[in-house]
Amino acid sequence: MSDSIFSRIIRGEVPCHRVYEDELTIAFLDVNPVAPGHTLVVPKEPAVTLAELSDGSAAALGKVLPRICRAVCKATGATAYNILQNNGVAAHQVVEHVHFHVIPKTDSQGLGINWRPGPLNPEAGAELGRKIARLL
Ligand code: AMP
Repeated sequence: MSDSIFSRIIRGEVPCHRVYEDELTIAFLDVNPVAPGHTLVVPKEPAVTLAELSDGSAAALGKVLPRICRAVCKATGATAYNILQNNGVAAHQVVEHVHFHVIPKTDSQGLGINWRPGPLNPEAGAELGRKIARLL
């Protein structure tokens, strides 16, 4: 459980540019946007990472995320956008409270991605796929 800046925003102790709120979620503009319209969608449950989140909060987030994407695109004129969701310091998570970034993408602004993909080994992939499936 976390008591981060986002918990303080949820409790109304810290101001934000709120765009949406319901019983389980809140969304507000990122204070340091990567592009205009950069919005954070946050469960009110104070889980640190997505894997710790309850099914109820996860469902609420899943329901509202597409609506917020549509509104952000309409408001900014963006036709492309990224969803970013960081878990853990090594994965660039700074605020220890689950949040989804909705980031409009234009030619000059938005999320930059520096992937270094490699081919999936068929045997290792089959084994790892089975291992993950067994754990679900
Ligand atoms: P992350 O690296 O995924 O943890 O991103 C945290 C995000 O929260 C950053 O993009 C910050 O700009 C944003 N942020 C931090 N404090 C606030 C705040 N008080 N209001 C809005 N956004 C915030």
